[in-house]
Order: sequence, then C-alpha cells, then structure tokens
Amino acid sequence: MDDARIAQFRKMTEADPANELGHFSLGQALLEAKQYKEAATCFERVIELNDQNSKAYHLLALAQNAAGERSKALGTARLGFDIAHSRGDIRPRDGLAALMRMFGEEPPEVDDPVRAKPGPAIKTGEGQITCRRCGAAKAPMAERPFKGELGERVLASICPDCWREWLFMGTKVINELRLDFANPQHGRVYDQHLREFLRLD
Ligand SMILES: [Zn+2]
Repeated sequence: MDDARIAQFRKMTEADPANELGHFSLGQALLEAKQYKEAATCFERVIELNDQNSKAYHLLALAQNAAGERSKALGTARLGFDIAHSRGDIRPRDGLAALMRMFGEEPPEVDDPVRAKPGPAIKTGEGQITCRRCGAAKAPMAERPFKGELGERVLASICPDCWREWLFMGTKVINELRLDFANPQHGRVYDQHLREFLRLD
C-alpha cells in the first residue's frame, strides 16, 4: 500500500531498535501492504520489547495466519488470549478468541464484568455522554478539543478523563514516531493512533 510510510517506519526502527511503537507501526503498515512474513517479524520484535502488548499478539497471530503459518498463529493466539484477558484488553482478546475458533479451538470461558459496559444500556443523566473509551456516563468536555469533524466526534463521545489520557499518550506517539505535523502523512498517522486509542472506529 504505502511504501513511503513503510520506509519511514523502517528507518525509525533501524535508528532505534528498542522503539516499541516504531516496530508496531511498521508491522501494521506491512500488514496492510499484505507483507505478512515481515509484518510477523515486527510484531515478534514488539513482544520481545514488551511481552504484555496484547495488540501485538493479536496482529502477530493474524500475520502468521495470513502467511500460512497456522500452528504458529494458534500458539500466538493462545498466549495472547491469556495476556489480553489478564490485562482487561477486551478487543485484542475477542479478536484472538475469534481466531482460535477459526482454528476449531474453543477459547477458555471468561468472566467478564466489563462486557456489560458499553453503549446505550448505561443511563446517561442530562447533559452527559457515554464515553466510547471507558464506557462511563460523564459530563462532556466544555468544547471540542480541536477543529474539524474528528474534533466534533471526540467532543460528542469521549469523556474529559480519557481525553487527558490521550494527550499523554499522543505526546508519546509524537516523540517515539518523530512525527512532524508539517507532513500531512504524519498527521494521518497521529489521527489513526488517536482513533484507535479512543476507540472511535
Ligand atoms: Zn472515558
């Protein structure tokens, strides 16, 4: 798909081999470009750097499966499932469970108080929003945090606490990926991380 983006991330990981987010982003870009073997290598590296990164297990299992390495993919899915569950990372866990089922294996039964969380089931008081990220009903931010359609969406669906968490994480993304907002491509990378972190997609 996007060779320039791949080259940018590749350069970044070569310059700083311990850059977890760099390897993760390179893996994602390679996965989108259907370069599954190399994507898998990136996610393996991410897990070497941080063995609690459940999203990396999920994407590694997908990459291994797409590369035709089904037994490896199942092993990764089992391992990642446990880690994702113990950390409360619902989305990667459900993704890994779906993958295990695809291989004909029923994932372990799990107790899930969090599952009752999202959406309209929660009663919102007047003037409150249900936050897409944490599921709580809270008063919204006083105004949209930045201009444009995405800013409106954040205002309508993200609570002030989660937004503050993103500001911290967003700074990390900018620093670790060395984003330069003069470059529109970098802006898109930033927005993609924002949408994922805030579960806007
Ligand atoms: Zn929230």
